[in-house]
Amino acid sequence: MRSIKFLTLITALFMAASAAMGAVTIRTTGVRVGDIFSIEETFPAGTKSATISFNGVTLPLMPDGSGKWSALLGVDLEAAEGPAPLTITHTLSGGEKYAEEVPLNILPRVFREQHITVDDSKVFLSDEDRERANRENREIRAVLAKTTDKRLWDSSFIVPIKGRYSSPFGLQRYYNGEKGSYHSGLDIAAAKGAEISSASEGRVALVGDYFYTGNTVFIDHGLGLYTAYFHMESVAVKEGEMVGLGELLGKVGSTGRSTGPHLHWGVYVGGVKVDPLSLVSVTKNLD
Ligand SMILES: [Zn+2]
Repeated sequence: MRSIKFLTLITALFMAASAAMGAVTIRTTGVRVGDIFSIEETFPAGTKSATISFNGVTLPLMPDGSGKWSALLGVDLEAAEGPAPLTITHTLSGGEKYAEEVPLNILPRVFREQHITVDDSKVFLSDEDRERANRENREIRAVLAKTTDKRLWDSSFIVPIKGRYSSPFGLQRYYNGEKGSYHSGLDIAAAKGAEISSASEGRVALVGDYFYTGNTVFIDHGLGLYTAYFHMESVAVKEGEMVGLGELLGKVGSTGRSTGPHLHWGVYVGGVKVDPLSLVSVTKNLD
């Protein structure tokens, strides 16, 4: 079962034209909007650095010591469908720089809609609340824009808590008939006080109490990859601390804008929001 699944995950293999470049492998469940995907390439000895650019985001690739370099990238939920080339650049220790373009096709994905009727006061924020939410959003974006230039995770990513998936990633919400924002993570229903685990190894990048997301933890996994944990009752970690796979981050709550105890789990790569379950499936097949 596992090997069949693995084969279908390798959807594309591109041979680069120049002898200076190796084979590029893209592993993914299909490069759909909202997906995360892995890219690997073998560069010649003496390669000093390598980067990949895609849809306006540039991230570093990391070497594994055997000549193979890799990175994870994400396709924004609002990215346009159709051809979207990747540009991979590597620089040799002598300073020579090589760039190649790899064709990629972004596939569509249909997301569910949810229509909610609420009191207008829940839709329109007071000036004070709006100012607070905007300020906090800027603070969060600034953290997500930082790229730690080495990979901090080693283990395949796990779902941080057991429970029913109550709202999927990408759900398009309408409030009183007006189109609202799409759901940027995966909601997992769990009892208040249930323990939340770190999805893999990383460093605690941000801990805060925010208007929308309540008690919040962001973990930096390196190379532009972050996981986020919202609406927590309590937080068990401090900024700057290194955490292991499965380590306790805090407990489930309903803080911030939340209608009941649950964990909102978010994944970001290069600042782009992606489906957390695609991170779990992509990293499971990286060995
Ligand atoms: Zn949510």
